[in-house]
Amino acid sequence: MSNLSKLQTLQHPLFEQYKLNVQIKRDDLLDPIISGNKWRKLKYNLQHVKEKGYQGILSFGGAYSNHIHALAYACNKYSLNAVGIIRGEAHYANNFTLSKAKQWGMNLQFVDRMTYRLRDNSEYLQRLSQQYPDHYIIPEGGSNTLALKGVAEICHELDQQTQFDTLITPVGSAGTISGLISGDNNQHKILGIAVLKQTDYLTKEVKVLLNDKEDKLFNHWQILNSYHDGGYAKFSPDNLKKLQDFSAITGVPFEPVYSGKMIIALLDLITTNYFQPHHNIVLLHTGGLQGLGGLIEQNKLKADEWPLPLELQAQ
Ligand SMILES: *Cc1c(COP(=O)(O)O)cnc(C)c1O
Repeated sequence: MSNLSKLQTLQHPLFEQYKLNVQIKRDDLLDPIISGNKWRKLKYNLQHVKEKGYQGILSFGGAYSNHIHALAYACNKYSLNAVGIIRGEAHYANNFTLSKAKQWGMNLQFVDRMTYRLRDNSEYLQRLSQQYPDHYIIPEGGSNTLALKGVAEICHELDQQTQFDTLITPVGSAGTISGLISGDNNQHKILGIAVLKQTDYLTKEVKVLLNDKEDKLFNHWQILNSYHDGGYAKFSPDNLKKLQDFSAITGVPFEPVYSGKMIIALLDLITTNYFQPHHNIVLLHTGGLQGLGGLIEQNKLKADEWPLPLELQAQ
């Protein structure tokens, strides 16, 4: 897996009209299977697991989780066992995402919503580590301290690649934005677009992950909460159309759950004059394109309108 992702300038009539320079950091191209931030977050976790001599990794996710998909693939590559605690029913094991995880050797354990809610509970975690000794436990989404270290490398790469004012990322569990904030160290503005509803807790989560509860270390970041478009993995037909148009104009593929919401937010922020002319914007493409397979399978997207990258099509 490559470590440096390319930075690409985007052409769009709106950027010209508002005199903005917009570039995109193509972390979706880091690896054909683990596209995006999930690889950044796993990198130092895998290294730690190997160094400490664990036999495998246990983690948590939903039935179409990009993190579970990436973890299963990475563990297979690194000859580690993988256990996925999955929210939902056993028949999900045959869906687009989990059938691959299973092929890569992940042990899928399905739990009900009540049990899944215990995923950060210390007694529950202790029970799991008794049940799976020699397994290192990584939280949902892969967001832990080691994940931040991997994500921070994006900022070090950007320092070599360009000068810019604002870096924009989608926000789910907040591991990625936290890694960017620490890697950037108050040099630029870091702007997060929350993809879930009711995300007031996210700001607190970032401060916990950064160990900056009193706002002493980092102050140059913000999470915008109004672009969730109805909630996690929800999207309106209007915004889907806007995203398709944006992909067609720029030639860059997006999916509507994460990176798509960042694009919709970007377009709205531009047309409401959020950015001064000549502002330099960098978008982080967090990947997650495997998610398209699940959305197509659930008839939430049409297969002919949302082509899957070739590497992800093969069964
Ligand atoms: C997981 C994910 C995110 C969100 O990252 P967090 O670290 O959970 O905030 C963004 N984009 C994609 C494609 C993802 O898979």
